[in-house]
Amino acid sequence: MIPILTLEEIFAKIDRFDPISYGRTRNYQDGGVSYLSPYLARGVISLSQVIERLVQRGFKLYQMESFLMELCWREHFQRLWQGHKPTENLRNPQFKVKHNEGFPKEVLEARTGIEALDLGIEQLYQTGYLHNHLRMYLASLICNHYQIAWQTAANWMHFHLKDADVASNHLSWQWVCGANSNKVYYANQENINKYTHSTQRHTALDVSYEQLPNVELESELVDLNMRFLGVSENSLVCNKEQNSCIYTPYNLDPLWHPEENYQRILFWDLEFWNQHPVSMAVFNWINDLGKANLKNLQIFVGRIEELSNMLDVKKACCKEHPSTSTYPYQIEQRSWLLPEPGQIPVSFFPYWKKVQRQLQKQYQ
Ligand SMILES: Cc1cc2nc3c(=O)[nH]c(=O)nc-3n(C[C@H](O)[C@H](O)[C@H](O)COP(=O)(O)OP(=O)(O)OC[C@H]3O[C@@H](n4cnc5c(N)ncnc54)[C@H](O)[C@@H]3O)c2cc1C
Repeated sequence: MIPILTLEEIFAKIDRFDPISYGRTRNYQDGGVSYLSPYLARGVISLSQVIERLVQRGFKLYQMESFLMELCWREHFQRLWQGHKPTENLRNPQFKVKHNEGFPKEVLEARTGIEALDLGIEQLYQTGYLHNHLRMYLASLICNHYQIAWQTAANWMHFHLKDADVASNHLSWQWVCGANSNKVYYANQENINKYTHSTQRHTALDVSYEQLPNVELESELVDLNMRFLGVSENSLVCNKEQNSCIYTPYNLDPLWHPEENYQRILFWDLEFWNQHPVSMAVFNWINDLGKANLKNLQIFVGRIEELSNMLDVKKACCKEHPSTSTYPYQIEQRSWLLPEPGQIPVSFFPYWKKVQRQLQKQYQ
């Protein structure tokens, strides 16, 4: 379901995407969503490239507003990460939390009894992708009903996602549990049934919205024990005379420095990935995506000092990202919808308004 695609194939995918019907159907599990997040999160394509392509096909900004707004959520989360650690509460402490450690065994084993969510958990494990609504339902179930610390739960989902992104993931978990919002997100069984086309009744969540905040669920708690196990495939062959492009799992841009004379290294920084582990399925998928898009890509798993010892750091560059901010290389800009945002508002809508004005200037 989440194939390895080259840039050309991603462009073709965008060319088949209908941003108008997206607005009508996106909340449904089988709605016309884009499935672009694994390629956006990995930096193979940028938000601007997606929009440019859709505008070229003749879509007007107002027709695509719902889709553009979702793209903008991604950018806003990236901007917040530049000034704030997504692992820390953005606005408030979690509204409801009983268990600072441990994870519900029933969720881990896809046995919550809520069929649509159990199927969603299985899908997450099998494909590394989940529809936005299912992510929200699961986050609400785990944080607001099992009352698990959002950090533990966010790490669990992040571990399995091919679009794993610390900003989008952690700040969304915070949004659901009230740490990045002034209210808590709840969904009852009726809502779950509507958007997943299920018909289940008489579950713990089959109550009214007035009763929902009182639903507290219990489960045996287990340690997740998730570790990053990625290793380099081969020893790195480096030439200190040569320029180097240092890619990361957040930047696999095939159009970056197209010159022939660069050695290209996908660097898995253990400092970062030990803190934010992903599964071996995600690790292998990202490496394969990199290799499909970048000629002669070498993969290196290690510490920044080890990598720097093998290169001339003055001849190495990487793209700006919170995970690369201390690297001793030339840091180059990444693409933004709003390159000069000024002060970043904590709330999404003021940021969206600025982006909207920028897009109108650019395309109308
Ligand atoms: C608990 C939770 C965890 C999440 N974790 C991640 C994550 O690790 N990585 C990630 O990329 N997204 C995450 N999201 C956001 C969103 O669920 C996914 O980006 C979206 O479901 C991806 O599917 P799509 O590409 O088909 O999205 P579409 O609906 O087609 O949206 C288009 C693009 O807009 C962006 N986008 C859409 N919705 C959101 C959103 N709510 N927040 C941020 N960006 C959005 C994505 O880049 C997406 O590819 C999370 C959401 C929740 C509620």
